[in-house]
Amino acid sequence: PAAAHTTHHHGHHDHHPHHPRSSVTERVDELMSRMSLQDKLGQMVQITRGAASPSEVAELRIGSVLSGGGSAPSPNTPEAWADMYDRYQSAALDTPLGIPVLYGVDAVHGHNNVRGATIFPHNIGLGATRNPELVRRIGAATAEEVAATGVDWTFSPCLCVARDDRWGRTYESFGETPELASAMSSEITGYQGATLGGDPTSIMATAKHYVGDGGTTGGVDQGNTQLSEQELRRIHLAPFHEAIERGVGSVMVSYSSWNGDKLHEHEYLINDVLKGELGFDGIVLSDYNAIHQLDGDDSTLTASEVRRSVNAGLDMIMLSKDHEKFLNHLRREVESGRVPMQRINDATRRVLTKKFELRLFEHPYAQRDLLSTVGSAEHRELARQAVRESQVLLKNEGVLPLSSGTDNLFVAGSNADDIGNQSGGWTISWQGSSGDITEGTTILEGIREVSDSSVTYNRHGEGINDSYDAAIAVVGEKPYAEYQGDRPNGLELSQEDLSTIAKLRSSGVPVIVVLASGRPMDIASEVGNWDALLASWLPGTQGGGVADVLFGKYDPTGELPMTWMRSFEQQPINQGDGKDPLYPYGYGLSYRD
Ligand code: BGC
Repeated sequence: PAAAHTTHHHGHHDHHPHHPRSSVTERVDELMSRMSLQDKLGQMVQITRGAASPSEVAELRIGSVLSGGGSAPSPNTPEAWADMYDRYQSAALDTPLGIPVLYGVDAVHGHNNVRGATIFPHNIGLGATRNPELVRRIGAATAEEVAATGVDWTFSPCLCVARDDRWGRTYESFGETPELASAMSSEITGYQGATLGGDPTSIMATAKHYVGDGGTTGGVDQGNTQLSEQELRRIHLAPFHEAIERGVGSVMVSYSSWNGDKLHEHEYLINDVLKGELGFDGIVLSDYNAIHQLDGDDSTLTASEVRRSVNAGLDMIMLSKDHEKFLNHLRREVESGRVPMQRINDATRRVLTKKFELRLFEHPYAQRDLLSTVGSAEHRELARQAVRESQVLLKNEGVLPLSSGTDNLFVAGSNADDIGNQSGGWTISWQGSSGDITEGTTILEGIREVSDSSVTYNRHGEGINDSYDAAIAVVGEKPYAEYQGDRPNGLELSQEDLSTIAKLRSSGVPVIVVLASGRPMDIASEVGNWDALLASWLPGTQGGGVADVLFGKYDPTGELPMTWMRSFEQQPINQGDGKDPLYPYGYGLSYRD
């Protein structure tokens, strides 16, 4: 009763704007009434950590910091991440208005910049699961690991609808249909929780890249999407509708163009469609130095580029350089009336609203009590379940599942024992890399763990002979990200992988091919020689999930998220386009077939 009385007595404070319980709108209004133009412009900048120290961020009143793909190497341990985050936060809080920074990262398959974090399958594999609830849980687990290190915001999910396997970002897509991307936008609910900031592990999600990034001609990254408005809306815009319904906090604009016009200055698609028609009221974020591209010359940032992008509706500009130049240009554009003050107020309001909703003013610092969730057994088990469900069995001449009584197994291939290769791009570094880059279980280790067989491994298949019951070749792609993964000239297996498989075959034992790749590969001329084929995509750190399927601990349920080409010349090939695929969209065998 005493407590209740106290609450009642001080009840009037609940509606005072300084009090956390005032509505977010009131708090934003009150804060904005105390902000100078410079304070507001600062909120519109997101700068790479490597380009601005905590004191510079504070000095320039910069609103947001990122550790992006292409930026300086990041700290290694989760604790070092939390320390780094807290340094930015305390510098920002130590300014006259004390506005916290929003810190963003590309946590696109787990908290993938952090060594020791759980790495989940890339989206292409999640698309194969056809399980939106699983994907929501992955988002929630990722949010815990991210929040532990302080970070508030992930540039995920990529809702790109990949229409051409030549595109280097195909694996960041849930698949080739808008229905898949829409369904898997459940990950947003996982990241943010039922409402943004509703619980302590809620982080802000980003629907990216708006819009048409997966539909460029030739599958060229950052290219040109040549489609009628009707087709753009049907294929590429639809998942953004769903994301906005789910309350996604931010949308990132695509580097690409639509019918020749860059998205980063597309007033119709940003202001009219996204903010107007779709009613998106969160933050519209640019891609990395993307506005530099508007005038053709990437190296200089012009006043015109700043004006056109801000007037088109961008609220925050992601930069790795030129942040002071951006602020100066924008101030002059506003003072001369070429950028309306209303536009600046709209952008500032959107940014501050998300900061209040995320409860950053009340809880600005890293949540170190959550650090034990980073790479926890529980999260790794969830990742392993995702790996199991993402496996697509494409061919099986009766060799799978392997019985646990199998005496002798031979394992080979460039992706059999390499945590970096099976995780792909966006793992520890932007491009990812081969080798022992983080903690986890390789596919080979998973096979050893799950089976009672005697397992012999040689990467190149050397030493194989007919005393084996079966040979498993784990082959596929090496890590890459973005345009560096574009493959305009072919998607065949490497010479190394082909000769490894040939060596295994020459022994006469049944050969099971496990393909760990970010997309379908051009294998039609080879697959006739294989006894089984399992598409594993990029499973991440829990390779045991692949072994669970090989040994029948889990009967495969995955379905193709992409139409599988019969030949490279068929690119682009998609469901319903009348071409004759090797395996159709949705294909996938089980052990009962
Ligand atoms: C990518 C984005 C990413 C950003 C920050 C860009 O190059 O296109 O997807 O979020 O970098 O790392």
